[in-house]
Amino acid sequence: MISAFLGLGSNLQSPRAQLQRCIDTLAQLPGTQLMAVSPFYGSAAIGPGTQPDYVNAVAQIETALAPQDLLTALQQIEQEQGRERGPERWLPRTLDLDILLYGDQVVNLPHLHIPHPRMHERNFVLLPLFDLAPDLALPDGQPVRQLLQRCSRDGIWLLEDTHTGER
Ligand code: ADP
Ligand code: MG
Repeated sequence: MISAFLGLGSNLQSPRAQLQRCIDTLAQLPGTQLMAVSPFYGSAAIGPGTQPDYVNAVAQIETALAPQDLLTALQQIEQEQGRERGPERWLPRTLDLDILLYGDQVVNLPHLHIPHPRMHERNFVLLPLFDLAPDLALPDGQPVRQLLQRCSRDGIWLLEDTHTGER
């Protein structure tokens, strides 16, 4: 079993409920155990135009699924929750599920990059990740703590009443 961290995000159709539903589905994933879920954070959308705020969280799983199979499973969950994929990135979405870390493995396939290439600079990834694993380091040795220190705290806030806690 490999310990992996997943980034969860939603900014459409009751984002908190979308995340909760996703967490319930993750708990049922074959060959996988849901270990912990971070508190939920609100964050201002990045990208073009005006978009609703996001709700973000990080989940920790232990999984026997290979990285590509895990991605396929996550994309299926995204699809079940009504995400419409288009050619453009950063569009509003009912659910975005990213593989942030998969043990200390580095994966560079055409459709799968682990660690997630943009996690270093995203406070809405680093804050909930730090909540779950304050002493974690990326495969290249960079401590999450240090990445977080370098990252702006603008446009992110803790959603107090949504802590789902340890599972
Ligand atoms: P983003 O998550 O950056 O906002 P998308 O969710 O639209 O963008 O993802 C676009 C593509 O990113 C997916 O089709 C997937 O193949 C690819 N991808 C690459 N690495 C990862 C990863 N670590 N986790 C999830 N998707 C990834
Ligand atoms: Mg994604």
